[in-house]
Parts: sequence; C-alpha cells; structure tokens
Amino acid sequence: MQKEKNTFCFPLPVPVLAVLHRLHMAGYEGFLVGGCVRDFLRGVTPHDYDLTTNALPADMHRMFAGYRLIDTGIKHGTVTVLADGMPIEVTTYRVDGDYRDSRHPTEVRFTANLREDVARRDFTMNALAYHPDLGMRDYVDGCADIAARRIRAVGEPRRRFEEDALRILRALRFSSVLDFSIEEETAVAAHACAHLLKNISAERIHEELRKLLCGQNVQTVLTTYADVLAPVLPAWYCAARGDFATLAARVAAVPNDPISRFTAFLLPLGDDLTTADGLMADLRFDRRTRERIGKLLAHRKDPCTGDLAALRRFVAGLGGEDARLLLAFHWALAVAEGDHDRAESLTRAAKTVEGLLQKGACCTVRDLAVRGEDLAALGCPTGKPMGDALRALLAAVLDGRVENEKEQLLAYFQAQQ
Ligand code: ATP
Ligand code: MG
Repeated sequence: MQKEKNTFCFPLPVPVLAVLHRLHMAGYEGFLVGGCVRDFLRGVTPHDYDLTTNALPADMHRMFAGYRLIDTGIKHGTVTVLADGMPIEVTTYRVDGDYRDSRHPTEVRFTANLREDVARRDFTMNALAYHPDLGMRDYVDGCADIAARRIRAVGEPRRRFEEDALRILRALRFSSVLDFSIEEETAVAAHACAHLLKNISAERIHEELRKLLCGQNVQTVLTTYADVLAPVLPAWYCAARGDFATLAARVAAVPNDPISRFTAFLLPLGDDLTTADGLMADLRFDRRTRERIGKLLAHRKDPCTGDLAALRRFVAGLGGEDARLLLAFHWALAVAEGDHDRAESLTRAAKTVEGLLQKGACCTVRDLAVRGEDLAALGCPTGKPMGDALRALLAAVLDGRVENEKEQLLAYFQAQQ
C-alpha cells in the first residue's frame, strides 16, 4: 500500500487501534471511515467508530477469534467487534448493485478496492478513510467540503437520490445538526427527488426528522426545504399554509428536546388534533410520546398563568413533567416573539409551579391524603361514586376549601353526604 503524507493525527481509542493493528497483522487493509473521520475533522470527538476493510466477514471471524463478535449484517459484510467492551463495526469494502424502489440495492458486491467502497457512500464528508499510519484517503474532496462546511453528494446527486431517497433526508438532517450548507447541485436534486421519499419507511423518516428538528440549523433547513417534506407529510404541509419562516422560527425557539420540537413543528395542526395524532401514528411514534405531544398541542393556547388555584389545576391536568415542559415551551415562544410581559408572568408561574412540585403539593387524585378504602370505610360505594368523590375532594383541595390532610378530608367528605 502506497504511503501518503500523514498530515492528520487523531487521538484514537486503544480498542480501535488494536482492531486496526490486528487487521494489518493479518495482511489486510483497514481504515476508519464515515462519521468518525468527519467528526475528527470538525474537531468533535466521534460517538462511535466504523472501520472499512478488504477482509471478508469469514476472514474477520478468523482473525478476531479471541474477541466477541456480532454478525450485525452478514449480507452487507458488517461484523461488530467488541474490543474492551467497545463495539466497533467493521465492514467489508463493497459496491451496491442496482437499486429498486429508491431504497434497497438488489445486490451487494464485495470489492477489494477502497476507492469503490468510498464511491457508494452518500456525501463527500462521509466518504473519507483514515489510518493513523497511512493518513487520509480523500478520493472525493471530502476534506475541502468539510472545511467549507458543505454537504455534497458523492457523484451525480440526482442519481444518488434516485438510488436511495433516504439520502435526501440525511442531507437535510446533517445540514441541521452540523450547521453545514447543502451544495447547490445536491440541493436542487433534493427538491427534485423529494417525491421518492414515499418509498422510505416511516421509522426512518421519523428518526431523521427527530434529529433534524433538534439540530442547531433547523430554522434554515425548515424554511428552505419544507417542500421536501411535503410528499411524506402532506397534511402538515397544507396546514402550514406556506408560512414556513414563522413555523421554522418557532421550532428553533423552543427547548431542544424532541417533544418540544415536534410540538412546535406540529403547531399548524393544532386545530386538528385528530390529524396531528394520525400523523404521529403514521410516523410510528410510541404511544406515550404521541399522548404527550397531543396534550401539549391541546394546551397550546393555555395561558399557563393565573392564581395559585389555577396553577394547581394546571399541574393537575398535565402532570408535573409536562407542566414544566409547557411553561418552558411558552416562555421560549414569548421571548422569541419579544413579548416580555408574558415571558415575565410565565417565569413567575414556573417558580410557583416549581414550589408546588418541590413541596409535593397535591395536584392529582393520587396525591390526596386519603385513599378509596378510607372513603369505603365511611360507606362510599366503589366504582364511579368513589371516583367522583375523590375528584370532588381534589377540586376542594385545589380551590383551597380544605387542606390535604386525612382527618380534614374525611370530615369534608362526610359533611358533603
Ligand atoms: P452519525 O453521526 O449520524 O452516526 P454517520 O456518518 O456515521 O453519522 P451512519 O448512518 O452511522 O452515519 O452511517 C455510516 C456511514 O455509512 C456514513 O458515514 C456513510 O459513509 C455511509 N452511509 C450511511 N447511510 C448511507 C446511505 N443511505 N447511502 C450511502 N451511504 C450511507
Ligand atoms: Mg455512525
């Protein structure tokens, strides 16, 4: 293997060095590739390490006999090596065959040539291969694109998106998360090929959209590429009525967690909660997340302020976690919209709510100092009358008519009979 001048020196974890060393000792090539090389060049510590090699899976099984191995994708040539507890994905150089339905290559062919492996990758920034002794293999000008903070398809963008439409969403997601721009020709192809996203599974769309919405550059991406999302989210696209700039500003303003970001993203569907819920179901949101976002959307016009009793009811209605979330959500929107009075009253409300939660104040039936059996002992029938009685007691506590204290609650209950 020809040596290139090594101008890069990345601090690699010992297990990664050990795996590279073993590949080399067995007479094979092995390079770091993809996200980890990109992240090193951005000055960020990678969250995982992928290796690419000319060794076949069977060769890997032989040379890593002493390691725990997981056949992550034997058909695609991926073996995960657990080195000192660190999972390292090692994949054989491969070329993807023809694609059907803009997603699945009909065949995967292994190759002995790194250059061919690199050419099948999505973006130039993800197509760099690095070895600590051999240096950087940059066949597609990936280093220059990373330096320019630019996402560029490897090869002809349109053809690459037609092969696999998920790459379109990956481009948008990377642009949002890394705060990179999308190179002109790649961007044009993303708009032109958006209809192909219909071939992508709901789970993948959900995952990419979640990461996109939590990215630092989400405002620009949503403003510029809303039309790309239209084929997979037609109801959302129609409901936004073309005002994606306002929507994108709101999404960017709210706290950076998936629940808040998705809630802001779905605000245009706030008046049509059934459609919002249907959209989340289509995107395979788990039930709890769907319910939480639905609740936050339903409360999107809630003033979230008021006197102590109102705030107690607010917490009772939402639960502590979502009450906090909604207050932070509205506060962020108020600040973004320059509504300082509202922001201030939300800050006061948040302090009061925090006080209530810290004190373990009674906000739900479960927090009452009496249980159903206490009321049953006083002759209250079980079932609906019991539920009604407990809810009536909670209302009395929230309004301050009675303290949340067992004797007082029981006396109050008896007095109402
Ligand atoms: P992340 O930080 O999100 O993990 P990553 O670049 O490592 O980013 P992965 O999804 O882990 O992304 O994929 C690893 C590598 O595999 C990519 O860097 C890229 O080279 C290649 N790759 C992944 N998905 C595709 C795809 N749909 N088409 C072509 N190449 C892909
Ligand atoms: Mg990765």
